[in-house]
Amino acid sequence: MEMRAGDQVVVISGKDKGRQARISQVFPKRGKVIVEGVATAKRHMKPRGQTMQGGIIDKDMAVDVSNVMIVCSKCGPTRIGHAEGADGRKLRVCVKCGGEL
Ligand SMILES: [Zn+2]
Repeated sequence: MEMRAGDQVVVISGKDKGRQARISQVFPKRGKVIVEGVATAKRHMKPRGQTMQGGIIDKDMAVDVSNVMIVCSKCGPTRIGHAEGADGRKLRVCVKCGGEL
């Protein structure tokens, strides 16, 4: 699992194909991510007490990590490569331009 919350990604399959958005949550064990505004499902909520309103809300559903590609700010959709930083830290880099992701 290479994706992290906050990554900019593009959806490469499904009904939201081509949509670009930010990852809001990752589930490394399940290999799934939640992308803001992608794969939303309508949920009917019942009013609960006085603080919660009922109605229909949009809920972002998890999508398989293989259905999204990370987006490089220079090249667009790309794959994640690896490099070692000056301090020995592992970096995620764009395989096309080598820029840090
Ligand atoms: Zn790049």
